[in-house]
Amino acid sequence: MLEVLRRVIQEVNGARNLDAALSTMVRRIRKAMQTDVCSFYLYDKELESLVLMETIGLRTQAVGRVVLPLGEGLVGMVAKRSEPLNLEDARSHPHFRYFESTGEERYSSFLGVPIIHQRHMLGVLVVQQAEKRSYDDEDEAFLVTMAAQLAGVLAHALATGNLARPALPGGQAMFKGVAASPGVAMGEAVVIVPPADLNSVPDLIPSDQEYEIARLKEAIAKTREEIRAAAERLANRISSQELALFDVYQQMLGEAALSEEVEKRIREGQWAPGALADVVRRHVQYLERVDDDYLRERAADIRDLGRRVLGHLQEGAPSTPETYPDNAVLVGDEISVAMLGEVPRDKLKGLVSVRGSSTSHVAIVARAMGIPTVLGMVDLPLPRLNGAPVVLDGHRGRLFVRPAPELTSRYESLIAEEKALGELLEHEQDLPSATQDGHEMPLMVNTGLAVDASALLKSRIAGVGLYRTEVPFMITERFPGEKEQMRMYREQLEGFAPLPVVMRTLDIGGDKDLPYFPIEEANPFLGWRGMRVTLDHPEVLMVQLRAMLKASLGLDNLYVLFPMITNVEEVDEALKLLDRAIVELGEEGSAIKRPKVGVMIEVPATIYQMDALAKRVDFFSVGSNDLTQYLLAVDRNNPRVSSLYDALHPALLGALQELSQDARRLNKPISLCGELAGDPAGALLLMAMGFTALSMNAPSLPKVRAAIRRVTLHDAQTLLAEIMRLDTPAQVHEHLNKRMDEWQLSHLLPPRD
Ligand code: PEP
Ligand code: MG
Repeated sequence: MLEVLRRVIQEVNGARNLDAALSTMVRRIRKAMQTDVCSFYLYDKELESLVLMETIGLRTQAVGRVVLPLGEGLVGMVAKRSEPLNLEDARSHPHFRYFESTGEERYSSFLGVPIIHQRHMLGVLVVQQAEKRSYDDEDEAFLVTMAAQLAGVLAHALATGNLARPALPGGQAMFKGVAASPGVAMGEAVVIVPPADLNSVPDLIPSDQEYEIARLKEAIAKTREEIRAAAERLANRISSQELALFDVYQQMLGEAALSEEVEKRIREGQWAPGALADVVRRHVQYLERVDDDYLRERAADIRDLGRRVLGHLQEGAPSTPETYPDNAVLVGDEISVAMLGEVPRDKLKGLVSVRGSSTSHVAIVARAMGIPTVLGMVDLPLPRLNGAPVVLDGHRGRLFVRPAPELTSRYESLIAEEKALGELLEHEQDLPSATQDGHEMPLMVNTGLAVDASALLKSRIAGVGLYRTEVPFMITERFPGEKEQMRMYREQLEGFAPLPVVMRTLDIGGDKDLPYFPIEEANPFLGWRGMRVTLDHPEVLMVQLRAMLKASLGLDNLYVLFPMITNVEEVDEALKLLDRAIVELGEEGSAIKRPKVGVMIEVPATIYQMDALAKRVDFFSVGSNDLTQYLLAVDRNNPRVSSLYDALHPALLGALQELSQDARRLNKPISLCGELAGDPAGALLLMAMGFTALSMNAPSLPKVRAAIRRVTLHDAQTLLAEIMRLDTPAQVHEHLNKRMDEWQLSHLLPPRD
């Protein structure tokens, strides 16, 4: 059965278009299950009905004509209940409905299973048999597995418009993802494919296999020609033995070898770059394991040839362009913080990527830069987007490709409204961040980017609540040395002096990799991250601490923050290194005062160790981004579970309130520097809880300040008391929205549908 299943999925994936795929699928299933009928009904959301789309066994003239409202007939019932229905005698079932056009009166037995993708009903697969047959467990399991596998293929086809369903006006297509940085962008899609990197080629189902094969052949031919020319150039300069290697390369690229395998993979349902990467990877893995030096060398050759062919495949295709349109919306499988730096800021209007979620670090950087961003757009047809006009809605997590004129004008007015609101709020940015009854709520900024304009911000904030030192580390090609770091830190400290600047020691791991220090782990967020890495590499931490301390000479506004603390011993060890750095610098002639030291509260264990931590440090900083992911066990980077990731989950709010009470009891300041602080409603709750500072991306300041200035502390405390009585995240959001509406603050929140 497994083999049949695999073959069907491969054939479906490899079909020229979805109609062909559906037709293959029903035929194969009918054969595999040795049954009379197999049909596929597509769920039409607008009509709330199921439409017969493909059948083998029923009359084909019924295709497109049989329409069953949700809950009606056996098929409608399968969809409504979202569970399989297995009936030996279907006609005796009260829901049985008979459509003359299908000729299905002849069939007694019925087995239907729903096709569901990420909780959304896509359709129903049905098998029927003339004589009475009780489909057994294995039949049912086969069909359920088939449906689960098909769900992804169908969702993709629907999203990309390959399946004739929601034909949006004017060829407009809409894709959904996770809203990661607010705002609306209009512009031209610029698809970024990392150049000739076999490891980052995305998997894509080809829309035209013949085209993929043709361009593969062309790329191989170009590579062969390149190698021939190189051999010719070198003919007089290298030995004949070495020259013979070029023949080996030619053979590897020959029809019977690489080319044929890649072609086969394309037919199985991969686009040419993906197929090439798969085949090369397989060979390389195999050869690297072999205990033979000569063969191991060949692994490197294959990888190199693969890269060359990929380079040619990408020639016509868009890669990182040399010039960008004035209104570029960057689109990629994965967009790194480093890639962001490559596009001139004034041309970069929006960001979209297939991977990632709202608290991925690229999202955080995008928010800091004020770039509307949507991540986790899993169904995006990357190769077909380049150059297309798009509208990106960073509030609702949507991308409209080739938008219809009405949609464009709707978004134009939204952009105008946002601009007007921005201008309106700008007027109060130099006024205090205080409630109407005089409670001061210090606002700080999160930095780490060269674009942070300290001069403008300085008069409006209470300091830097989080300087993410890893960001500058990410855009260099090696660990920056002590002097280089000192210069960067001095710039920050001087730029904001005399305001405090909280510098966090290197927090890499998780989704923050340094190109020159890769960390590959099965569970990176639960692995070698933050303090765990730097305590294992005291040489790296010492250089950083020394650089920070030296940079603070004469300014005295440095605060040091340790990330990802799990155990108190880690704090003791880190403090020991800090003290050693101070002693060393003293011996070298720089007498430096010990800065105030804090820990991030982001691993749930620390919630219960506040007393022990308070004995060792001067302040606490809550990292709500990580605390949310660890407390809820929801990967902050995974779009599949992004709907579960919620910093306003009652459990989180309970933990935050306790943390704030503990800090007050222990007489220590406690700030919060996760994304929750930049949400106006979240900020009001945190203020009511008693947080002593809120640190956020600079673009969030105006709205948060405006919210604080329009309420009294008492209002916020009443709201908090009401919220703390609620049981679910949905109730929390609903209640917050209601109060924000009543207080006429809803214009500060992201637009809702
Ligand atoms: C956090 O975890 O909330 C935080 C501020 O740190 P980062 O997002 O860099 O992990
Ligand atoms: Mg964190």
